[in-house]
This record gives sequence, C-alpha cells and structure tokens, in this order.
Amino acid sequence: VRRSGLLEFVEAEVALGDVGGLENLKRWLAKRDGLWLAEASAYGLPAPRGVLITGVPGCGKSLTAKAVAAAWGLPLLRLDIGKVFAGLVGSSEQNMREAIRTAEAAAPCVLWLDEIEKGFGGGAGGDSGTSGRVFGSFLTWMQEKTRAVFVIATANDFEGLPPELLRKGRFDEIFFVDLPTRAERASIWALHVQRRLRHRAVAGALTVDHALLAELAELSDGYSGAEIEQAVVGALVDAYAERRPLRRDDLLRALVNMVPLSVTQAERITA
Ligand code: ATP
Repeated sequence: VRRSGLLEFVEAEVALGDVGGLENLKRWLAKRDGLWLAEASAYGLPAPRGVLITGVPGCGKSLTAKAVAAAWGLPLLRLDIGKVFAGLVGSSEQNMREAIRTAEAAAPCVLWLDEIEKGFGGGAGGDSGTSGRVFGSFLTWMQEKTRAVFVIATANDFEGLPPELLRKGRFDEIFFVDLPTRAERASIWALHVQRRLRHRAVAGALTVDHALLAELAELSDGYSGAEIEQAVVGALVDAYAERRPLRRDDLLRALVNMVPLSVTQAERITA
C-alpha cells in the first residue's frame, strides 16, 4: 500500500462482475465511465461530482468503490475521514485541503471517502462546528472542481449524516445498500463458491447448480455479503481439515452454524 499523507492508494483486482447484486448502482456507475473526458464536455456534459453510498455494513460498498476504479482504469485514493479529524484543533481543514490537493495531482482518479459518518457527531475529536466547516468546503470543492476527480463517499450510518450532505444536487446520486435480496444472495454465493472451486484441491464433485444456489439463498435470509463469504470460508476450513474437496454439506453446515449480525441485532431489540 502506497500512502501520500492522509491518502492511501488502494490496489485491488476487483471487477464490477465480482459485486453480486446492487444492479442499479452498478448500472449507474457503468454509464459514468469516461464522463471526465473531453468528448463528454463536447456533449455539454458536466464533469461528474460523485456518488454517496450508504447502508448496511458488509454489503459491498467498499467492494464497489474498488471495482469501479479498476473498471475505469483509474487510481483509487482512499481517505480515512477519522484521520482528517484526528489532529490538533484547526488542522482538520488543512488536512482536507491537503487530501484534495493530492487527489487533484493524481487526476484522473477516484477519491474514496470511507466511513464519512466518522467525521460527524463529535466523533474522532471533531466538534460539529469544525466538521461542518470541513465538509462545507469539501462539498463546495466537489461541486466546482475542474479536475477529473470522481468522488465516492461511503457511510454505514445514514442517520448520523448531516442533512446538507444529503441535499439534492450535492452528490450526483445517493444509493442505499440494504441486506441482499434472495436473488442477490444467490449471486453472491455463486461468486464466492465458484471463485474457490477454481483451486484444484477444492474442486471435486460439487457443482454449483441452480438448486444448490436456491437452497443457500433461501437459508441465508438476513445475511450480508460479508457473512456469506465468511460461511464459504468456514466450509472451506472444514474441507481442508480433512484434506478433501468442498462438499455441499460443508456449505450448508457452515451456514446453519452462523448467526448473522442482523439476527443478533433483532434479538437485542426484542430482548
Ligand atoms: P463495511 O463498511 O463494513 O466495510 P461494506 O459495505 O463496505 O461494509 P465490503 O467491504 O464491500 O462491505 O464487503 C466485505 C466483503 O464481503 C467483500 O470484500 C466481499 O468479499 C464480501 N461482499 C460483501 N458484499 C458483497 C457483494 N454484494 N458481492 C460479493 N461479495 C460481497
């Protein structure tokens, strides 16, 4: 990982096809490929500002940010908002300016503001007055920028975000990512199992057919994409313990033995 001040250059070999579900978001992003090119301004198109993706943890927000940069062949610069506010009083504005300067120097690029909710609500040492100013100047820059810096902001906690950030016209679009639907779960299972079956030691008699995916999708209601991946890894651990290929039962057992976060939370609410 290369770093430049508060920014981290993220290298990830992820394609948009590696993101299961989230079809609207993927389609929206795919259409914006090349919007910063001179040809786009010949169409009278304004340079894209960026997108805000909020929603449930572990459902593909970070994965999408990585996939989009890779699909567009642009460097991905990740800014940890917590770090912007971690310094001395007054320096968070400077930190943000510095990050913007670095991103502009790397243009065309994707600037990924991860966990932006960390900059608000007095967290990470920033009082709301400071964070309001810092974000105010960031939003102004985002709207007026002339360099090709596509902004992807991600947040887990939608409710902690200030209304001015959510106002129409700030970002080009705002997407809410929820727990995957049954169809989305089937494609996430398929992606993660198939990827592992490419390893010769793992592949055996198991075929990832429609019936298996339907069963896994049915049983994993309430699971995030990250939890589905965790179940696949759990199944692989079992197969590896016996040094044999992956079996259908491994997947089902790993799944049944897991309690997804959404269920734990629901229990906590009803308890
Ligand atoms: P967080 O804010 O907790 O990081 P996130 O929404 O950004 O949540 P990711 O980091 O994108 O979640 O997901 C973690 C991992 O879970 C991914 O690297 C991927 O392996 C798996 N995963 C999550 N969602 C999906 C998805 N829609 N398709 C395929 N894999 C997924």
